[in-house]
Amino acid sequence: MARTPQASQDPAVGGRLGDRLHLCVGPACNNNCLFCIEDNREVRFGLLGDQTGDDVRRMLAASPPAGQVVFVSAEPTLNPALPEYIRMARDAGFPSVGVITNGRRLAYLPYARALLEAGLDTVQVSIHGPDARTHDALTRSRGSFVQTVAGLANLLRLRADFPALQVNTAYCVNRRNLAHVQAFLAAMEPLRIDQFVFNVVTPEGRAAKHFDRLVPRASDVVDEFARLAGTLAPDTLRRVYLLDLPPCATARLPRSMRGWVERYFAYEMDGTCPLPEWGDGFVEAIPEGELFRKDTVQGDRASYTRVAKDLHDSLARVKRPECGACVHAPSCPGIVRLYVDRNGWDEFVPVLPVPGPEDVSATGTGSAPGPSSGRSTGPSSGSTAGAAAAPGTRAGAPRRGSRQGPPA
Ligand code: SF4
Repeated sequence: MARTPQASQDPAVGGRLGDRLHLCVGPACNNNCLFCIEDNREVRFGLLGDQTGDDVRRMLAASPPAGQVVFVSAEPTLNPALPEYIRMARDAGFPSVGVITNGRRLAYLPYARALLEAGLDTVQVSIHGPDARTHDALTRSRGSFVQTVAGLANLLRLRADFPALQVNTAYCVNRRNLAHVQAFLAAMEPLRIDQFVFNVVTPEGRAAKHFDRLVPRASDVVDEFARLAGTLAPDTLRRVYLLDLPPCATARLPRSMRGWVERYFAYEMDGTCPLPEWGDGFVEAIPEGELFRKDTVQGDRASYTRVAKDLHDSLARVKRPECGACVHAPSCPGIVRLYVDRNGWDEFVPVLPVPGPEDVSATGTGSAPGPSSGRSTGPSSGSTAGAAAAPGTRAGAPRRGSRQGPPA
């Protein structure tokens, strides 16, 4: 049954909705990741092949005053028009232009240079292990690790000519590579990565099908990153961000390590609805508004619907009644339904406001001093006790979330 979508994130945490556009331009991918969230790849291939340059121009024109456009979906570098689209975005006045990529085509230095010359200033490269054995097994594409690392090395080389270039990695944390995070950071050290983004695998798309093989317990992930935090040099630690766990679960981690996924909106071509699992007629049942506006852009062969990431979160994620008392509730998008169906709620304990002295004497119940101080309660009370910091409110938080959510 459709639920009424709501903006589930506090703009102070995820950024203002409208500041970031994800533009889907990749009809195909040269990897075949076990955990890919885009499980409707064949449909997207058929439809996105009909996208025209004028469609892209119209989407860019329809998007002011977005501060950044990020080219996403499947593998954007396989679209031969990508350099032209980057130039279009610059001409349209976007101050920042990024791409989320597996980095394989960046192994060709002239191509990588062409993207940067066109105006690309931020590259997020998906890489999921410290070696070919780990990475290629997850991408199910032999040779992918070698090419991706060559791509990263080329970006490092090109920084001499493009000093403002930002290079981040995105590592999809799952059962198969959780134990290799430390080795990964060591392997990447020579490449001078700006931000190491670690996204905990989201049990949607293919990852939902392979839940038992891939999806780790949140508490196991936090255990590993807490251990890691105690071993990393300060210069490495400040560049490590763990995303996609709710703040109640990450209270034990250093504040700087607790990142968040930025809010964004995308244009979905008719037929590429990212929410097929909700069934026929589902999209028709969604009320139009800030999060969802149908047929916003008329393309040459299709129309495009504006979809916000918040919409997906509000539909795919759930909270329990106790979450209402949690200091993080306004900014927390909740937990993916399948995860709690399988593992329950014990790992996610509401962080309650700490009562101030006046509140205690007056009412004995306390008021909310804000999310920077909290205590845990609930079924596993005490297990996550300690200071709980607001997620991602510090300077230097990831400039982009690496999760290619369903709208992407
Ligand atoms: S208790 Fe609920 S609202 Fe609070 S952080 Fe956890 S999942 Fe989010």
